[in-house]
Amino acid sequence: MTPKIARFLVERQPPAPCLVFDLDRLEANFRTLRSTLPLAEIYYAVKANPAVRVLERLVSLGSCFDAASFEEISTCLAAGAAPSAISYGNTIKKAAAIRAAHAAGVDLFAFDSAEELEKLAANAPGARVYCRILVGNEGADWPLSRKFGADLELARELMLGAGALGLDPCGLSFHVGSQQTRTTTYEAAIGRVAMLFTNLMEAGLDLRLFNLGGGFPVRYRAAVPEIDEFAAAIMQAMTRHFGNALPGMLIEPGRCVVADAGVVASEVVLVSRRSREDPLRWVYLDIGRFGGLAETENEAIRYRITTPHDGAPDGPVAIAGPTCDGADILYQRTPYRLPMALAPGDRVLLHATGAYVTTYASQRFNGFLPLAEHYL
Ligand SMILES: *Cc1c(COP(=O)(O)O)cnc(C)c1O
Repeated sequence: MTPKIARFLVERQPPAPCLVFDLDRLEANFRTLRSTLPLAEIYYAVKANPAVRVLERLVSLGSCFDAASFEEISTCLAAGAAPSAISYGNTIKKAAAIRAAHAAGVDLFAFDSAEELEKLAANAPGARVYCRILVGNEGADWPLSRKFGADLELARELMLGAGALGLDPCGLSFHVGSQQTRTTTYEAAIGRVAMLFTNLMEAGLDLRLFNLGGGFPVRYRAAVPEIDEFAAAIMQAMTRHFGNALPGMLIEPGRCVVADAGVVASEVVLVSRRSREDPLRWVYLDIGRFGGLAETENEAIRYRITTPHDGAPDGPVAIAGPTCDGADILYQRTPYRLPMALAPGDRVLLHATGAYVTTYASQRFNGFLPLAEHYL
């Protein structure tokens, strides 16, 4: 938690639950990333946190944007982004959304199927397109590989045919999965995609864009490799495969730009036991799976939680949200311990919650309001 957030929480005592977000930390994260991987253009993955204040700060820093819908594109444009700085990176788009994006000046689109490529040809004639390649996601706490990506053979065929459809096949992309904790997974993906990239260049395509996606991890409860270890592994792999003739590199970080700039302040609603003998306490917070903590599905992302009683004797807990849905459990298998003194009304903090939280909050399920947000 940054000093600015700590001060805000003490002085303002904002009603819980809410996200408190430090824009200066976001800026520091962005600058670190840019200086660590200076050859890669940064396309911030808007879905990680699309708040206008976040996008405006990133525009002022010269960031580009990876958008997943026409609505995200509009939000970027309203925040001051140039259409030429926006990539429509979702491989699943409605024809009307493609047309609207193209009419707004967006000229860079992702695809991973013949069907989507045809849709792009019909609705964004002449646009630059890149093919997303299926790669391994080993080591990712939040994998993405099952839903996206073409295999190498299909990708080759589609890239070679894109020109005849009136499109400009300009590059390849991949995503190693979110909260990726292994540098070796990037190396393997780069090797796989670089092989096809070189092959397509030899076949006569004018490829200029090597899109490494996102995935860079942040520290929740467990330590993760630092960003410079990923940068070193990426640059070594790129140099191994391309020598001095590096293609234009692009990254689409989301989580590592915004996560640790945000803290969720929550309130304990109830601490109870299933039976008199049970040592396990159930701690119910005023935020759960439907209040924005969707990434606790399968207990995939394990947030660090602090309380006002930290340091006092503690015991094992299961942690759940406040709704009447049985799926609204945050952690039951993951060992969490919280102070025995924890009681209703206590403020608990969920750290590094600036990514993938605010927009996952449901609209009034059980009547609960979407998560309040404070940008400092
Ligand atoms: C979600 C997403 C990202 C961002 O991933 P992070 O793990 O948050 O860095 C980047 N690119 C695409 C295409 C995505 O869907």
